[in-house]
Amino acid sequence: MTTLYAGLEAGGTKFNCVVGAGPDDIRAETRIPTTTPEATVREALEFFRAQRAALGPLTAAGVASFGPVDLDPASATYGFITSTPKPGWAHTDIVGPVRQALGVPVQFDTDVNAAALGEGRWGAAQGLDHFIYLTVGTGIGGGGLVGGAMLHGLVHPEMGHVRIPHDRTADPYEGHCPFHGDCLEGLACGPAMNARWGRPAEELPDDHPAWALEARYLALALNDFVCTLSPRRIILGGGVMERLSLFPRIHRELQSLLNGYVQAPQITTYIDRYVVPPAFGPRAGLIGALALASLLHP
Ligand code: ZN
Repeated sequence: MTTLYAGLEAGGTKFNCVVGAGPDDIRAETRIPTTTPEATVREALEFFRAQRAALGPLTAAGVASFGPVDLDPASATYGFITSTPKPGWAHTDIVGPVRQALGVPVQFDTDVNAAALGEGRWGAAQGLDHFIYLTVGTGIGGGGLVGGAMLHGLVHPEMGHVRIPHDRTADPYEGHCPFHGDCLEGLACGPAMNARWGRPAEELPDDHPAWALEARYLALALNDFVCTLSPRRIILGGGVMERLSLFPRIHRELQSLLNGYVQAPQITTYIDRYVVPPAFGPRAGLIGALALASLLHP
């Protein structure tokens, strides 16, 4: 019998739930709007219980969550969403209810670390054990694998909140981050684009100056990640990156910023294969949740 996993991608606007064995064997899937923690988690658990009744036992669960989250297994708040500015969601236990309701082991991580794991296992970073994944959407988050293990540390990476040069003459927009104002997320997430230009990113035409600025900001951050983490590939997902014309702009900006200093053909020659979209597109986090579960019961 096939081993079936429960995958939960807990996002700020929706909870995506999936039951399956891998990206090519998805048995059931649903999408629940994120309202209050109680109602949203309850609805997700009802879905998994119903699928278990219909499809048979689930062997493990993966939870890929928006953050910040507590990933320290020794902590009393392990498995919690911690200091999120999202109203009602700070200090919410996500792992506890899943473990209790399904009676299976739960692997927990950030949505971006999970997406990286899934892309490494089945997608755009197969065969690599050292790469990063960034999502650029309602917020900006980054994760990745180092030596085959997901990037953890004091807490977990917060690549969306790095500081980048901000020329206030060229771009007077003060930034969208409630903690930092004009950090990377504050300047380059989808809501920042909307606030700066007066309409949503997806409505801005390809030749709008918004995209050159967006590519510049993202490349400034990638420059720093290349120099600090030396990733073997960079995957850029999320709603804003669905504008595929951003990729060649970022390639050119990143090459120009690095200016020939990092001598690797991946950057100097094959940069279009170095900074790439996720193989699973908007499903990267959801597939990542399955990949998390598969760590517990391969
Ligand atoms: Zn910030």
